[in-house]
Amino acid sequence: MDLRIGIDLGGSKIELLALDARGDERYRKRVPTPRGDYGATVKTVTALVGECEEALGAQGTIGIGIPGALSLATGRIKNANSTCLIGRPFKQDLEAALGREIRMANDANCFALSEATDGAGRGARVVFGAILGTGVGGGIVVDGHVLTGPNAIAGEWGHNPLPLPRGDDLPLPECYCGRKACIESYLSGPALARDAGVGLDAPQIAAQAAQGDGRCEAALARYEERLARALASVMNVLDPDVIVLGGGLSNMDRLYANVPRLWMPYVFSDLVSTRLVRHVHGDSSGVRGAAWLWNG
Ligand SMILES: [Zn+2]
Repeated sequence: MDLRIGIDLGGSKIELLALDARGDERYRKRVPTPRGDYGATVKTVTALVGECEEALGAQGTIGIGIPGALSLATGRIKNANSTCLIGRPFKQDLEAALGREIRMANDANCFALSEATDGAGRGARVVFGAILGTGVGGGIVVDGHVLTGPNAIAGEWGHNPLPLPRGDDLPLPECYCGRKACIESYLSGPALARDAGVGLDAPQIAAQAAQGDGRCEAALARYEERLARALASVMNVLDPDVIVLGGGLSNMDRLYANVPRLWMPYVFSDLVSTRLVRHVHGDSSGVRGAAWLWNG
């Protein structure tokens, strides 16, 4: 069997998914992440692979999505939310434990690859996958391959400053990363909740706005305007065929109608054929993309 194993290493759970060559699911298992324990994390991943391969009676390729990036300078993990990975030679340690080469990518890159391969961006040459959730991240896929870059930050638009701040974008918020006015500080779920200022979270704000609540509607309108400006600056550099949204806020249907109308004044083109679409694979995107890291 031509088996591709994908692993999504999250802050709270580790998920493994095995796909056959057609992309059909053959095995799936999810276990809690041993938080803060690096050695146990390596052991858990290794054991998951062993269980899967024993159950299927076949060896597979292994791709892993991590909440961070692999520094090309040091071969170690950087920018990780799961802090026990930072500075560790996670890839080398897993390769030693598993006895084979593995591929590793940022979880946002895995999302973009999953949607570009057999999701909402299928068939498109250039796909920008943008995650709007607790954080704001992104990944770029060109001709079916993740674009990584020498600094392993390709697609990381969340810590660029919001373009063209207006009165209601001020004062410029401080970001935990040490920069100011980061896109993430405006477009994450917590940022939307803070901006609405009505003690509701993002799904509740969307529901209230749909029922005619003025403050929630105004907050969503500001959100869409900011998202349009932020995406337009990506489009002016990358000119993607498709932009796929993922993360919790991507479930707000109104974004797909409103944002492409709002981005027009900021895109440096009279006609814009870039499509803004919702993810297809949802929560499975990370683990599917990790499996597809070995697709060619
Ligand atoms: Zn930042």
